[in-house]
Amino acid sequence: MNPPSLHCLRCGRPAEAFDGCRSCAAEGIGANAMPPLADLTGVDLAGYAGGPWGLPAALPVPGPPVTLGEGNTPNIRLRHEPQDAHDGRPTGEVWLKYEGGNPTGSHKDRAMAVGVAAAVAAGADTVVAASSGNAGAAAAAYAARAGVRCVVFTTERVPAGLRTQIDALGAERVVHRGTVFERNAAMARAVAEHGWYPLTSYSAPSPGGNGYANEGYKSVAYELARDFAGRRIDTVVVPTSRADLLAGIGRGFRELAAAELIAQEPRLVAAEPAAAAPYTAALGHRDRAEQERTRVAKARTVAFSLGEERPCWQGLDALWRSGGTARALDDDAILAEHRRLASEGLLLEPSSAVASAVARELPVDPGALVVAIGTASGMKGLVD
Ligand SMILES: [Zn+2]
Repeated sequence: MNPPSLHCLRCGRPAEAFDGCRSCAAEGIGANAMPPLADLTGVDLAGYAGGPWGLPAALPVPGPPVTLGEGNTPNIRLRHEPQDAHDGRPTGEVWLKYEGGNPTGSHKDRAMAVGVAAAVAAGADTVVAASSGNAGAAAAAYAARAGVRCVVFTTERVPAGLRTQIDALGAERVVHRGTVFERNAAMARAVAEHGWYPLTSYSAPSPGGNGYANEGYKSVAYELARDFAGRRIDTVVVPTSRADLLAGIGRGFRELAAAELIAQEPRLVAAEPAAAAPYTAALGHRDRAEQERTRVAKARTVAFSLGEERPCWQGLDALWRSGGTARALDDDAILAEHRRLASEGLLLEPSSAVASAVARELPVDPGALVVAIGTASGMKGLVD
């Protein structure tokens, strides 16, 4: 069986490769190309085993699965004094879905499990990722699992723990001393010249990552719907850069709603570091044509996994569809939340703390839930 073809989310044109829509790119807009949404009619959510492979019919690759037991991450209720934040009014519960509980310590495992399976199905012998860390570690692990070669392009600014992880898992790490743009250009050459299978975004403006791999993120939505069945998830807050996770969660909820497995889709909120906050800037513009073409200055941030100059269109689409919004926090607020989570026994990457800090501040009706996605473990270290 051939995998389903990919079409641009924005203009509907078919895509030729994994570098998004070239027609939209010519307009300066990074729009990803994805397979059709899955039909979940008749699925028994209570019997869903979790993770991407718990619902293989929703994936663009038939298998065989490449798996290390990803998914089924814990939901942890945060200590929260809701009256503090909202003028004494009662509010809902704040939960954290802890994606650091995945095999390599981040949400990226959900995508790389599916992406590496797609690579194997396509007959690839080498997969390649451009990554500041977590995606590279996940690509290395799943490539090792499948027995294919893995090359990871990084910049020099990767925490030592992550470098160790990528190397120990047997990937070839190519350190690029230039900018992220130059690193991605090097990956694009490798894809064009050697036919290596790309697992992450490498073109500019970035459309987001591999459209097959990203379908693995839908399982976050399926697990939330299963685990909080009978309760109302009002909002899901997602640390956002290229919006692969945000868009994937949005697609999962859309599939669930279309199959009437949930009553309504939660609102999605993109959480960003103020040092690089294109979605927050974009949603400040009135019309969508302006929002799509937003470009911001980008500075270094403790949230090293995040940081884009332009919004990827797939993220804007997810926010528009769910009636969502974007919030940005400065590094002091991010580090304060990083410490607050640790004081509750949770050591997360600062990029993840962006989401829980935003979640604590959102007004939510009593009885409803807000869920922050804690994308990665804090045990991989910090950047200098
Ligand atoms: Zn397009």
